[in-house]
Amino acid sequence: MRMRPVLAVASECAPLVKTGGLADVVGALPQAMAAQGWGIRTLIPGYPAVLAALSGARVVQEFPALLGQPARLLAARHGALDLLVLDAPALYARDGSPYLTPAGRDWPDNDLRFAALCRAGALIARDGIGKGKSRWRPEVVHLHDWQAALVPVYMRALGAGQPCILTIHNIAFHGLTAHTRLAALDLPEAEFTLDGFEYYGHISALKAGIAGARALSTVSPTYAQELTRPEFGMGLEGVIRARTSALHGILNGIDTGVWNPATDPAITPYTTPPGKAANKRALRTEFGLATRGAAARGPLCIVVARMSDQKGLDLLLDALPALTRRGGQLAMLGSGDRKLENAWLQAARDNPGAVGVRIGYDEGLAHRMFAGGDAVLVPSRFEPCGLTQLYGLRYGTLPVVARTGGLADTVIHANAAALAAGVATGITHRPDDAPALEFALAQLCALHDDRRLYTRLQRNAMKHPVGWEASAPRYAALYTRLADQPEPPR
Ligand code: ADP
Repeated sequence: MRMRPVLAVASECAPLVKTGGLADVVGALPQAMAAQGWGIRTLIPGYPAVLAALSGARVVQEFPALLGQPARLLAARHGALDLLVLDAPALYARDGSPYLTPAGRDWPDNDLRFAALCRAGALIARDGIGKGKSRWRPEVVHLHDWQAALVPVYMRALGAGQPCILTIHNIAFHGLTAHTRLAALDLPEAEFTLDGFEYYGHISALKAGIAGARALSTVSPTYAQELTRPEFGMGLEGVIRARTSALHGILNGIDTGVWNPATDPAITPYTTPPGKAANKRALRTEFGLATRGAAARGPLCIVVARMSDQKGLDLLLDALPALTRRGGQLAMLGSGDRKLENAWLQAARDNPGAVGVRIGYDEGLAHRMFAGGDAVLVPSRFEPCGLTQLYGLRYGTLPVVARTGGLADTVIHANAAALAAGVATGITHRPDDAPALEFALAQLCALHDDRRLYTRLQRNAMKHPVGWEASAPRYAALYTRLADQPEPPR
């Protein structure tokens, strides 16, 4: 089958470089879309970890002065990924996080680092890769988050006419920079307007993308709705509202090959809820949690998350007694905000045998936690899509989630109607509300006391589709519409 060409532009791509769900989606979409007849080449920055992981990379283009920086473009395959890697040592040859200095601050030249990525994307869109008959040139350009959102501006300036789709994974990050940077970033002064990329006197990369992309998408239908409201739109709700007819909510999927309890090499494999028992024993031991008696009679809950205000882990600290009082336990893996890290380490000291905390980033441990847990807690204040509740469904680890964004779209609350219909897969609660979370934890403990019912819910969860089967055709329909229809007048 001839693949229709798409260029994706992103700052992260799993498994090469990841700080969150964005990377998982950018890494998984190419394989899912190949089955739909769309061949995605993904442009990412050449961070040291990316360059080190490439084998057989070839130089396909030189950019002697990309926004003033010498750079070259490498092409390489990595598993199912067809990568274009922007090798610009002055911008990307820095170890650690893609965005932060070793001291945890944004790099001061992040605007230039990602503007250069966008500029390269626009040049690739215009000129393609290769020469003659074998030249590859995208029909559609798919941008992910603010780091890629200046592409439409540069494409217009360079005379590249393909349609762009911008996917917003998290509107909390705007990519703001000072007006005085217009020249350094080679951005047109004429577009520094209310309808362009001006935002309260600053340049907003994300706003440039929202205004300039033909289509917008975000990673769940509920988050799409939420983005139009001031509580969630983070100051861009008006801009989003002006473009609601172009906005699509398409749920993320997970890689069901990597997240498969029947074949997962990190765990004792299982296909039914009772098969989780060996993993649960191992997890309790690993986190130093009680294994018998009243202290272990409740559900073993897990959390795997970035420790940031978004994730609501401070609310969980307040609600924790509702779980531990009933013999429930909690194993937490995460890192981020120092204050939260310390508060959770203290909670572990205060609740020996009931609460275990690991600060760090550990994929293997995350797999063992989903296999061994009875429930996964996701008390986020907002959550564009969320992936950990999907892993929970897949592993029969019931999600207890705030009713927001993609969490609201993927978990069926165990209310009386859903229980009677036999379709419940978890528990949902009001977001940003510690008493509501307490109530949800109490409900979890009550459900867990009824072993047969709990096992039924786990079976429902494990049957729930969490891959790309529903969403890949929706992206394909969008790509097709963009590529085949001329731009409608705005
Ligand atoms: P976000 O993108 O806001 O961080 P998501 O739920 O969409 O939230 O994606 C988070 C991803 O990062 C998931 O794949 C999750 O398992 C993973 N993750 C987060 N923190 C850790 C950690 N400390 N160790 C291992 N994996 C983690």
